[in-house]
Amino acid sequence: MPHTPYLIVGGGMTADAAVRGIRELDPNGAIGLIAAEPDPPYARPPLSKGLWKGEAFDTVWRKTAGAGVELHLGRRVTGLDLRTKTAVDERGAEYSFEKLLLATGGTAHRLPFGGDRVIYFRALEDYRRLRGLADEKKSFAVIGGGFIGSEIAAALTMAGCKTTMLFPDEGIGSRVFSADLARFLVGYYREKGVDVRNGEQVVGIQESGAQVVVETKAGSRITADAVVAGIGIVPNTELAAAAGIAVDDGIPVDDRLRTSYPDVFAAGDVARFVAPALGARIRVEHEDNANTMGRAAGRSMAGDAAPYTHLPFFYSDLFDLGYEAVGEMDPRGEVVADWKEPFREGVVYYLAGGRVRGVLLWNTWGQVDAARALIAEAGPFNAKNLIGRLPAA
Ligand SMILES: Cc1cc2nc3c(=O)[nH]c(=O)nc-3n(C[C@H](O)[C@H](O)[C@H](O)COP(=O)(O)OP(=O)(O)OC[C@H]3O[C@@H](n4cnc5c(N)ncnc54)[C@H](O)[C@@H]3O)c2cc1C
Repeated sequence: MPHTPYLIVGGGMTADAAVRGIRELDPNGAIGLIAAEPDPPYARPPLSKGLWKGEAFDTVWRKTAGAGVELHLGRRVTGLDLRTKTAVDERGAEYSFEKLLLATGGTAHRLPFGGDRVIYFRALEDYRRLRGLADEKKSFAVIGGGFIGSEIAAALTMAGCKTTMLFPDEGIGSRVFSADLARFLVGYYREKGVDVRNGEQVVGIQESGAQVVVETKAGSRITADAVVAGIGIVPNTELAAAAGIAVDDGIPVDDRLRTSYPDVFAAGDVARFVAPALGARIRVEHEDNANTMGRAAGRSMAGDAAPYTHLPFFYSDLFDLGYEAVGEMDPRGEVVADWKEPFREGVVYYLAGGRVRGVLLWNTWGQVDAARALIAEAGPFNAKNLIGRLPAA
């Protein structure tokens, strides 16, 4: 049985960052990394953005092996015995460890119909499949109006493919954007050539020869060559739960990223951590979180006692528009918009109880740290003292 003092389950960006975090404090300790995907760790954001805009494919690789780690690719860990500190994979191979990191991320939500005809866009192999179809100029139905749906619809349209986008909300990105901005995006996407079907809930997918027909509750039928869905993820907590580690929509961790079990850590999309700036326990499914928490978890595994206090930011691109955001963005609460040019450039503040909980920097760059500082301030804040507060850099 291979023994490594450090064992990482998962092969995503968090796992890669953790390897580097361990190496900062322990240059020589053996690290094992077990990953279900056949590919070594890679960056996911370019799969729906940069690679469609001419970025070279090879830029996705994280080059984790160069940091000195034993990679076990294409292997899924199916069981943990925390008493004997061993993990077992689906082929029966066992691995022993002293410190374990669960960086298992999330699995795409699936629709109860459509089977393998639906591409649930998350992994490099999904990109390869979609790219092949896009290069043949196929037509697409994209289900979902959130991060993945909006990015993929833009990417496919820019690739010259006829694209229909369907989602039940009124606007694009309605879960995080204010209603007027989300509505603006519907018009903006239509101008860019996307056939946007907002307010449409998909209730069935039927095969029709080589094509598929997407059926909606309102009775629409959209025929396309292929269907892509981006309807959220479920955190991969089964392994932890089966081993007796506490789970709660993710794996709760303390300020050193330790789970309820000694010597077992969790980080990235799967971890629910305390964000002191918000005074709340949150789970974040974004790149900065994966990179920063992954690194901190690696350092913590190697003995660093520093608490993890980072409030992660996230970003996205929607055709020519782009944004960075930090904190909690709940458009159902109080929202103060400070537009330099309506819906093209500005800052949107999300407030609760007189405090800023989240900041959306819309085509506004270089202000993430200033936004974090604002979230940490006691306030009270309102439209009067926020307008003009964070100017575009
Ligand atoms: C297409 C796409 C675009 C994105 N764009 C952005 C963006 O623009 N901005 C942004 O901030 N964020 C973006 N994100 C989110 C960001 O990429 C994720 O937050 C980040 O990748 C999460 O990393 P992770 O390592 O925690 O989890 P994951 O990436 O989910 O990796 C977990 C890995 O662990 C493996 N695994 C799970 N269970 C086991 C097991 N039992 N045994 C072995 N292996 C296992 C999984 O197969 C997976 O490879 C994007 C995500 C996607 C999918």
